[in-house]
Amino acid sequence: MTEAPTPSFDVVFVDGAFVEADDARLSIKANAVSYGTGTFEGIRATWNEAHRELYLLEPLAHYERMSRSANALGLTLPLAPEELVAQTIELLRRNDARQDVYVRPILLLSGEVLPVRMHDIETSFSIAASPFPSGYINTEGIRAFVSTWRRTPDSTLPVRAKIIGSYVGPALAKSEAINAGLDEAILLTVDGSVAEATTSNVFIRRGDRWATPAATDDILEGITRRQAMALIAERGEPVEERTVDRSELYVCDEAFLCGTAVQISPLVEVDRRPVGPGVAGQATLGLIDAFGSAARGESEAHPGWVVPVWGPQ
Ligand code: PMP
Repeated sequence: MTEAPTPSFDVVFVDGAFVEADDARLSIKANAVSYGTGTFEGIRATWNEAHRELYLLEPLAHYERMSRSANALGLTLPLAPEELVAQTIELLRRNDARQDVYVRPILLLSGEVLPVRMHDIETSFSIAASPFPSGYINTEGIRAFVSTWRRTPDSTLPVRAKIIGSYVGPALAKSEAINAGLDEAILLTVDGSVAEATTSNVFIRRGDRWATPAATDDILEGITRRQAMALIAERGEPVEERTVDRSELYVCDEAFLCGTAVQISPLVEVDRRPVGPGVAGQATLGLIDAFGSAARGESEAHPGWVVPVWGPQ
């Protein structure tokens, strides 16, 4: 059974103009269609019913990462990150967005150029937005296994950049997990230490210490990962960025995955072994709470993380 297309809002931003999504076209002969040559982002916006407000979560940080991703590919974004935040707000207003939203900026090689290369090919920059797909957050806790697929090492492509073509490995790993009756896959580095899940970073808790794979362990340097580290530090708990062994997933007391899509989600099973007691841990639940209120614009500690789309009416 094939899944229906993910619904998206009617208006998209393409190469400087707001157009109807149905009128936006990319050639099947575009370089990026064959080779995945481009970079993208995923930005969360959370609707707060009590505030009647839609809050973007650190959109500037996402566009700054995108700018660095583009630079790693030898490309440049058409606008400065601050201007892209402004266009994103305009896009959400034009779509009358008043629900949780996933914003999808993409810079890709749109030119119909056959050779495999990055330079001297026309680019296209677009932003689309979708109502946040349901089923992404697993509040019961995620059951994962360690994939047979390894995380692409930085020696094969820039892992700090969010590159379109780099998602084929995670896609294979995710399908492998679903076909095994699980929710998610954890990818190891080529050397066999923990890297990350398919689209999220991994944290473990042993005793009262947290650890997450180091930025040099072939991870995407997640923005939610940074936010989670800040929330942990505020609780006065130590968090180390270091190499995490596979077997630590089996002996830790708590674990969670974090990313724009999954937010902070408890990891309750790895390789058919319960993580800790096999249910979401108390410390993880505390972080989920704190993260949720920050994303909804209700946190006194992190008002700067959110940007309101509608502002005072
Ligand atoms: N790793 C990968 C491979 C990802 O695609 C994502 C999602 N962007 C993450 C980690 C988490 O990053 P973020 O918290 O910035 O969404």
